[in-house]
Amino acid sequence: MTLAKNQSALEIVSFDPATGEEVGRVRKTTPEEVRAAVEKARNAFEIWKRTPFAERARIVMRARQALLSQLDSVALLISREMGKPVAEALLADITPALDLMQFFARRSSKILKPKRRGIGILSLLGRSSKITYKPMGVVGIISPWNYPLSIPLGEATMALMAGNTVVLKPSELTPLVGEKIGEIFEAAGLPKNVLQVVSGDGETGAALVAAGVNKIMFTGSVATGKAVAKSAADTLTPAVLELGGKDPMIVFADANLEAAADAAVWGAFTNAGQACSSVERLYVEESAADRFTRMIVERASKLKVGVGADPDSDVGAMSSLRQKQIVEDHVAAFADAGAEILTGGNDTGLEGLFYPPTVIAKAKNEMRPMREETFGPTLPVATFKTESEAAELANDTEFGLTASVWTKDIAKGRRIAGKILAGTVTVNEVLYTHGLAQTPWGGFKNSGYGRTHGEEGLKELVAVQHIHVNPITLLPDIWWFKYSPNAIDTFREMARKFASGSLPRIAMFLPAMFKRILELRREK
Ligand code: NDP
Repeated sequence: MTLAKNQSALEIVSFDPATGEEVGRVRKTTPEEVRAAVEKARNAFEIWKRTPFAERARIVMRARQALLSQLDSVALLISREMGKPVAEALLADITPALDLMQFFARRSSKILKPKRRGIGILSLLGRSSKITYKPMGVVGIISPWNYPLSIPLGEATMALMAGNTVVLKPSELTPLVGEKIGEIFEAAGLPKNVLQVVSGDGETGAALVAAGVNKIMFTGSVATGKAVAKSAADTLTPAVLELGGKDPMIVFADANLEAAADAAVWGAFTNAGQACSSVERLYVEESAADRFTRMIVERASKLKVGVGADPDSDVGAMSSLRQKQIVEDHVAAFADAGAEILTGGNDTGLEGLFYPPTVIAKAKNEMRPMREETFGPTLPVATFKTESEAAELANDTEFGLTASVWTKDIAKGRRIAGKILAGTVTVNEVLYTHGLAQTPWGGFKNSGYGRTHGEEGLKELVAVQHIHVNPITLLPDIWWFKYSPNAIDTFREMARKFASGSLPRIAMFLPAMFKRILELRREK
C-alpha cells in the first residue's frame, strides 16, 4: 500500500489515506503559469468588479445548486482524498459551505452598502463623510487539506461577492476537491478567469504570494504562515492568516457533565482531531476529574475507527503519514513525561493511516505536547482548582484560536470567556462555530490575524474608502496658512475645547474660530 503522497515535476497524485488507492491526478501549475493566472484574473477583475451584486449572487446561488446536485459524490471525494468519514464531509464541509453561500449571496450588498459616518460638530458646517467599500482586485486563497471544501469555497464565495477575482491554491493533499470548486463555479456560468484553481504544492503557493495579488487569504500552519507574511511584506500585500490552535476546554464541576463529555469527545476526535479548533487541552475541575475522565474514556473507546466511506465510521484515517507521526511522537512524549494513556495510543490493526482516539490523563502544561499543536486524535486531560487557575492554564499558550467553558452558571461562563485570549470562546459548546457564516473567525497570538466569515470577514476583502465632502467653499479652514500669534491662540483653544468632545465646550470655542476666520479673510 502506498502511504506517501506522490508527485512529479508535472503532476500531483492524490491518494486515499485509508486504502492507499490512487484517487486521481492533476497537472501541477508551474510558477510561470501562476503568474499568468494572476494576470488573467487582473484583467477579469475589470469586468467582474462592475458586475452588480444581484448578478454575483445569482452565480453564487447557481454554484451552490451545482454543489447540492452532487452532494454524495462530492462527500465521497472529500472522504477519499483526506480520510474523514462521509458523514463529516457532509456535516462539516458541504453543509457549512452551502449555508455560507446563501448567506453571503443574500447579505453582501447590505453589508457593503455605502454608509454615512457621523463627524460631530463638523457636520453642522455642512460637511459629510461617507464610507464606501471597493473590491480589492485579485485575491489569492491558499488553503489546507483538513476542510478542503468549506475553507476555500467559503473564502472564494466571500471574495467573489465583494467583487474580487480569485486564484485558489488548494493543498497538494486534496487537489481534486480544489478542482471541484472550479468546476461548480464554471457550471454556474462564472465568467472565465474570475475564479481559477492552480494546483500544486508549497512552491505553487509561494508563487501565488509573490505574484502581486491584492490580498492573500492563507489558512495553514504557523511556520508556513510566517513564510507567507514575510514574502507578502516584499510587495506590501495584505494578508489574513488563519493559523494553528491548541484550544482549551474548561469543564467546571457544575457543568452538565454528560453533555460536556459528549462534546469533549466530539471536539477532540472529529476529523481525526485534524481541526484547527479541535479540543487539544482539557482542563477539568479537580472535584469532578475522576468521574469526568471515566466518562470520556468510556465514550472514546466506543468510537469506531475506519474507512471514511463506511457509514458506521466515527473516526477516519489521518491525512498524511507526517501527521500520524506527529501524533505518535506527542503520545510518546506524554508517556515519557509521566502522563497516563488511558485509552488508545496503540496500533489500530488497520491498514492505512489510522490512529485511535487517545485519552491522556495527568497532563501538565509543562509537557511539550501540551504546548505544540498535535492536530490528531488525542485528548489530554489536566485539572484545576479555581476559576482564575483555569483561565491562567487556558491562556498559557502561544495560540489563541478558540476555547470553551462548560458550566451551568452562564454568568460564570461569560466571565471566564472574557478572560481567555482567543478569537472565539464558546460557553457549553465546542468547535462548531467555523460553520457559522455570520460570525467572525480568526485567532489571537500565533493563531494568526485578520478574520474570515461574518461582516468582519467580508470587509477583509474590500478596500475601505472614505469620501469627505465640504459643499461650502466660501469660508477658509482655520488651520490653513498663514500662521500667526492669533493662530497659535486659536489652536490652543482648539486643543482645549474643540477636541473635548463636549458640546458646551465646543460652543465656547466658536468665538476663537470666528476671530481666526476674520484674520484669514483680512490676509486676502
Ligand atoms: P500548511 O501550512 O502546511 O499548508 C497550508 C497551505 O499552504 C497548503 O496549501 C500548502 O501547500 C501551502 N504552502 C506550503 N508552503 C507554502 C509557502 N511557502 N508559501 C505559500 N503557501 C505554501 O498547513 P496544512 O495544510 O498542513 O494545514 C494544517 C494547519 O492549518 C494546522 O496548523 C491547522 O491548525 C491550520 N488550520 C488553521 C485553520 C484556521 O482557521 N485558523 C483552519 C484549518 C487549518 P501544500 O499543502 O500543497 O504543501
